[in-house]
Amino acid sequence: MSTELLTPGPRQTKVFVPELVYFEPDALNYPKGQRILEWAKQQGLPIHMTTSHNRITNLPGDSELEKYKIAKRTLVVGIRKTLKFEQSKPSAEYAIPIATGCMAHCHYCYLQTTLGAKPYIRIYVNTDDILKAAKAYIDERAPEITRFEAACTSDPVGLEHIGGSLKELIEFMANEPLGRLRFVTKFHHVEPLLDANHNKHTRFRFSVNASYVIKNFEPGTSSFAERITAAGKVAKAGYPLGFIIAPIIWHEGWEAGYQELLEKLKEALPEEATSDLSFELIQHRFTKTAKRVIEQRYPKTKLELDETKRKYKWGRYGQGKYVYPDEQANALREFITDQIFDKFPNANIDYFT
Ligand code: SF4
Repeated sequence: MSTELLTPGPRQTKVFVPELVYFEPDALNYPKGQRILEWAKQQGLPIHMTTSHNRITNLPGDSELEKYKIAKRTLVVGIRKTLKFEQSKPSAEYAIPIATGCMAHCHYCYLQTTLGAKPYIRIYVNTDDILKAAKAYIDERAPEITRFEAACTSDPVGLEHIGGSLKELIEFMANEPLGRLRFVTKFHHVEPLLDANHNKHTRFRFSVNASYVIKNFEPGTSSFAERITAAGKVAKAGYPLGFIIAPIIWHEGWEAGYQELLEKLKEALPEEATSDLSFELIQHRFTKTAKRVIEQRYPKTKLELDETKRKYKWGRYGQGKYVYPDEQANALREFITDQIFDKFPNANIDYFT
């Protein structure tokens, strides 16, 4: 194992502490709401009440950009009212909602558009209601297995020290013969989850990428070395492990970049991590709306967003996406697939999209 790789570099990512905290009044009727209130007081954070997250209008900041940055460091503690789960193809049947929003600043993140102008971090405190809804979805599909994705609208590992909801989900699924959980993270703060009773019903995935992508487009996340060290701990704790390589980006030297990524993974992962290993591959895509928002928020980004170099793929709700033309997409898929099987012959590649 390369010690150079595992020595934390200059970037030692701290756990997230918001700058502002808002509580919706009903949230304080739940033990989790009270726990978060105590935590926020201990941290000495400014605490406000709000009737609804939609009514937070007075964030500090002189420009839209400053307000956006503050919003990403603002925590809103509330109730999840909609208990109808969205579909989450291709990685799972349903998205399970425990939090929304993220403090990191990945330029390509689709939350930029889905959360619009209010990208607060919301943690839902009515976990029992959410689990009850999950149970109903599992029963409805029996005897089929039902998979839930917990990271569709957030990076819940990065918030676990505040809400503790992932551990509750993991332990709930451990006792559900037909329920499975999965989530993905770019953070390395996995300690609170290592002693959870998971019964191998949770697949713990890390998002990884070529160093060009991490360096240029993922500010505010844990470094590659931090993520991979955490992946080793997760594997030692017996979780099925996975990697999502996303977004796969065509850039100068991409072959060397993705080859190096797989080499580093092989070098760093302990043996037990490779016995049940999955990969998911997602090429970069963007919508017209995303392009507009990204250019406003990260005006100096090197992210290539040129529609003329892309293929248009029709999408649901009339909002199509720009993906790589077939020739490039195939080259990326074939090369990375070969690299994965070369380094991890027993791994599964769940999909390329
Ligand atoms: Fe978005 Fe994930 Fe980056 Fe957070 S870590 S900004 S959820 S891509």
